[in-house]
Amino acid sequence: MPVLVMKFGGTSVANLDRIRRAAKRVGVEVAKGYDVIVIVSAMSGKTNEMVGWVNETSPLYDAREYDAVVSSGENVTAGLMALTLQEMDVPARSWQGWQVPLITNSAHSAARIEEIPTDNINAKFGEGMRVAVVAGFQGVSPEGRITTLGRGGSDTTAVAFAAAFDAERCDIYTDVDGVYTTDPRIADKARKLDKIAFEEMLELASLGAKVLQTRSVELAMRYNVKLRVLSSFEEQSDEAGTLVCAEEEIMESNVVNGIAYSRDEAKMTLISVADRPGIAASIFGSLSDAGVNVDMIIQNISEEGRTDMTFSCPTDQVARAEKAMAESKDSGEINFHDLVADIDVAKVSAVGIGMRSQSGVAAKMFKTLCDEGINIKVIATSEIKISVLIDRKYMELAVQSLHDAFELDKAA
Ligand code: ADP
Ligand code: ASP
Ligand code: MG
Repeated sequence: MPVLVMKFGGTSVANLDRIRRAAKRVGVEVAKGYDVIVIVSAMSGKTNEMVGWVNETSPLYDAREYDAVVSSGENVTAGLMALTLQEMDVPARSWQGWQVPLITNSAHSAARIEEIPTDNINAKFGEGMRVAVVAGFQGVSPEGRITTLGRGGSDTTAVAFAAAFDAERCDIYTDVDGVYTTDPRIADKARKLDKIAFEEMLELASLGAKVLQTRSVELAMRYNVKLRVLSSFEEQSDEAGTLVCAEEEIMESNVVNGIAYSRDEAKMTLISVADRPGIAASIFGSLSDAGVNVDMIIQNISEEGRTDMTFSCPTDQVARAEKAMAESKDSGEINFHDLVADIDVAKVSAVGIGMRSQSGVAAKMFKTLCDEGINIKVIATSEIKISVLIDRKYMELAVQSLHDAFELDKAA
């Protein structure tokens, strides 16, 4: 029988009523003749609560134990979803990551999927089971330890299962009815897109649009998974939501197609670094060894052999970055006067494949922010995106004014 993957995010399984509603949606697809793999997130708020407990217990925690704790929310919803389906007379059972087993590498808290054997679940489908409920976000390392795939990782579990089982489609059920030109929660004028190209979705996700985890989009693109985002709160037709697809399938597109933001950014500046060949390699090597995800980097002009080096990273990694830099200073590997952290910044980005062929987008973006009196602290560009770091208090204003300036409320 054809296989369908259906993923339900945190708000879609937030309580028993919502789980029942989701299970009914699954029942509809089973009745159409699909064998269904359901991927569930933890109930909304649960993962955050557990992350809080870990941070309070151990600020520079052992990531293996972090994973042991924060993976547990999905175990609860997987079991409850299987029970709910059974109550509806749909043959179902649950799987935790290690039972599949969904094998990942050993990069705890940000693990990558290496293998999903299909025989175990397929054998059960062969015996008449109609729904395999799999706990999202979690796997098992080659060392036999529980791993997690990074925040939002159930999306990636879903796409990886769709690829492994050659599913007809991967439906991501969430609390919005598709992918919008920007987060509909902060811009009233955000417009739902019927289709979005993989490349654009990839940029939007990596720049903060949390509707899909970045890695899930990468996998969908690589394995050509038919990926759809839709609401678990509305009755759905087969055409509902937003289809994430190849660029060629989209006829008309704006130059800028989306505005993304990332609220929890920090800007760190190493003041007066002794400038010598290899200094950048030393700084960013030790940050990387400490598990800091550096995003933007600027090195100022060097004067009398010393320079300032600025980089950005997520706010929750500031402590790690400070520790790594202090250790490098103590060991004499890096010589600098001071490390200044500005934790009140946010990143706002404009994304569009049309930028490849049209100039003036950066100028328009900077002019729009200038007209609102917003100062730009750092700029980064690539072929299809422009990102700026600004004071966090202006983030919403920046998103809304850029959405207006690029007329994203109007279709191409
Ligand atoms: P889930 O728990 O279902 O995985 P998430 O909270 O991870 O849901 O993702 C859905 C949220 O993503 C929406 O509620 C919305 O606020 C946010 N979001 C950010 N950018 C966008 C966008 N461009 N389009 C749709 N939703 C977006
Ligand atoms: N529960 C995990 C998180 O909140 C994974 C997910 O929901 O996708 O990040
Ligand atoms: Mg999510």
